[in-house]
Amino acid sequence: MPDKKTASFMRSLCLGRIEEEILLPYPEPTAQEKETLSAVLATLKAMLTPREKSFHEWDIAGEMPAEFIRELKEAGLFGLVIPEAHGGLGFGATAYSRVIQELGRFDGSTAVTVGAHSSIGMRGLLLLGTEEQKARYLPRLATGELVAAFCLTEPGAGSDAAGIKTSAVRDGDDWILNGEKIWITNGGFADFFTVFAKTSLEGRGHITAFLVTRDMAGVTNGPHEDKMGLRSSSTTSVAFQDVRVPASNVLGEVGKGFKVAMRILNAGRTGLGGGAVGGMKRLIELSSAHARERVQFGRPIAQFETIRQKIGQMVVDCYAAESVVNLVAGLVDRGYEEVAVEAAISKVLATEALWRTSDEALQIAGGAGYMRELPYERAMRDCRVNRIFEGTNEILRLFIALAAVNDVAEELKDLAHSMRDVLADPIKGFGVLSDYAKRRASLATGLGGAKAKFTLLAPSVAEEARQFEDQTRALAVAADRLLRKHGKRIVDEQLACRRLADAMIDLFSLAAVLARVSTRIEDHGEAAAGRERDILRAFAGQVRARVDGALAGIDSDGERDVLALGDQAIEAGRYGWDNL
Ligand SMILES: Cc1cc2nc3c(=O)[nH]c(=O)nc-3n(C[C@H](O)[C@H](O)[C@H](O)COP(=O)(O)OP(=O)(O)OC[C@H]3O[C@@H](n4cnc5c(N)ncnc54)[C@H](O)[C@@H]3O)c2cc1C
Repeated sequence: MPDKKTASFMRSLCLGRIEEEILLPYPEPTAQEKETLSAVLATLKAMLTPREKSFHEWDIAGEMPAEFIRELKEAGLFGLVIPEAHGGLGFGATAYSRVIQELGRFDGSTAVTVGAHSSIGMRGLLLLGTEEQKARYLPRLATGELVAAFCLTEPGAGSDAAGIKTSAVRDGDDWILNGEKIWITNGGFADFFTVFAKTSLEGRGHITAFLVTRDMAGVTNGPHEDKMGLRSSSTTSVAFQDVRVPASNVLGEVGKGFKVAMRILNAGRTGLGGGAVGGMKRLIELSSAHARERVQFGRPIAQFETIRQKIGQMVVDCYAAESVVNLVAGLVDRGYEEVAVEAAISKVLATEALWRTSDEALQIAGGAGYMRELPYERAMRDCRVNRIFEGTNEILRLFIALAAVNDVAEELKDLAHSMRDVLADPIKGFGVLSDYAKRRASLATGLGGAKAKFTLLAPSVAEEARQFEDQTRALAVAADRLLRKHGKRIVDEQLACRRLADAMIDLFSLAAVLARVSTRIEDHGEAAAGRERDILRAFAGQVRARVDGALAGIDSDGERDVLALGDQAIEAGRYGWDNL
């Protein structure tokens, strides 16, 4: 069995190994979990359905009434992931993500208000807090008496989080915090802040995480931001002026705050993914109803192939995103610790699938979709930011690709060591060398080494499984080749990295769909899985074309022309071929 502390499906995949035990059987909630979750979801549905009109009005007004936030607290929504011992519901990642999904179905602003509290605002306390810190804050966070916010971004530090300027200087038993954070979700009413500050004034980095509460003198927030979407959710700046924070409120180790931030963001991603899946399900319902009801050329538009294809594609995208999000949440719940790459993939995949879905749903609604009266334009505005916050999708693609390349580099380093070792200790050295040589030979010949094939899948998904194995080999060969070609400079080869990441995103999604459909077949028989089998076939066909395309061009200079045109426009500050 894979070691849950170190095993990562995707990192192994880039070395050409398919660790199928990590995926199979595809995680399913237990009967007990299903029962609890169904009860919570039914309560939520009853609470949110009559609010449809209010969500629309609150979006226009750009404000969520305090009374509604009180209702969310009373429904236990601020205690979802807090252990029962501290007064919460003790939900794992899967159940939590499913609840955010239900919120996302109704209203993005509501989902993000609850999500910012649980996914990121107080996640650090849960992951890394001392028992004393947890006892001090978790019970009040569970009831919503304290609402949490995550304070990392600053005017000069967005994606480059290590560049923050907020400072914390030690003074006796306290730290004195100074600085300003921007675009903080829940900033207007949160009482508990996970704040990242520099604890050494020299250079970049040296960041520490602090638990700060509203009652500490010097904490203030700016006005509500007037946003494109998620308009009724609170987004404000939060300023810290000479805030005296006791040393007992340091979260994790002094100087290790950057790692704390990354751990929090990694852990929170299945929440955002869940919200995106909820949004897609709702849009599929709306689009299907509209396509049935809207008559043009004497027929419901649902009868036109173009419309059917759009809705079918929404279903494929939603199924793939749901499979990935649930798989990653299931891995977290089963105790796998190395899921950063998989979690990043789930975020990119789900947020982009929702964006496409919202665009097509609006298109199916035609001109009506453009009117504020209907929910489509709000859905589009609300989901746009998903590709920007909690790590932009560009940065996450770089992270996904570089994690893979890093592992290949490690193996090459082992090879270099072994070459040295060959001289010092021929037996040990040749051992490592031959492992690497075997792997390269198996990749090159396609004959397969250990772990190059699926063995646990249902026989009827064999065709898609073979495709996955072939494309895995192509991925591993591409990663190896890129590294040999660029060495350390690979970090600046962003176009190649993007292609590698795109292939990885598609392959992980295919693996998740394969595992889910296969498990369904094994548990319920072929007939019960009929439609899901169709989704697998359709999705695998799309993945085949995309991965082949991404990897075929990975070494080419095809996009250099586009880069040069970009440089030219940036330099000139305009389009250069206006013919007037
Ligand atoms: C509604 C909303 C809510 C938010 N909530 C919070 C919150 O609760 N807490 C919090 O701390 N922050 C929050 N944020 C901030 C959010 O996390 C940042 O906007 C995000 O990290 C991106 O930073 P930036 O906006 O400064 O963009 P930048 O980092 O300036 O990026 C601009 C563009 O350049 C690209 N880019 C940047 N660096 C590179 C690179 N090396 N290579 C290639 N491309 C690159 C980016 O992908 C992006 O497309 C929120 C933002 C919004 C809009």
